This record gives sequence, C-alpha cells and structure tokens, in this order.
Amino acid sequence: MSKKVWVDKEQCIGCELCVNTCPGVFRLDADGKSECYDSTGDSEENIQTAIDMCPVSCIQWQD
Ligand code: SF4
Repeated sequence: MSKKVWVDKEQCIGCELCVNTCPGVFRLDADGKSECYDSTGDSEENIQTAIDMCPVSCIQWQD
C-alpha cells in the first residue's frame, strides 16, 4: 500500500470529482487544481475509482 498518487495539474480542469470521491486524498489548491496531499488517505480501490472518473485522465499512480 505504498503506491503514490500524482495529479497532472496542467491538465486538471478542477471539476472536483476526485475531491468529492476521496476527500482524504485530494484537495483543490489555490489555483483550483487538484493535488494529492495524502496518498494513504483512502483505500486503493476508492482512489482507483477517482482515477477512473477523472474526465481528463490526469490522475496517475506512481511507483
Ligand atoms: S477529477 Fe481530474 S479534472 Fe477533476 S479535479 Fe480531479 S484531477 Fe482535476
């Protein structure tokens, strides 16, 4: 469970889907872009759901 999550802010449109799905993992920064502040803030399954829901596919797992 040491996988990390990363958001490509260049592509994020700030729709907040990931924030609403995993509020313990994602939050909007001052520019209205999502950022991962705690990769362990939710289950891997829920994070994967957020990844799959992102309309611009800008959330990725990192090794
Ligand atoms: S779901 Fe994707 S586009 Fe929407 S806020 Fe999250 S990272 Fe950004």
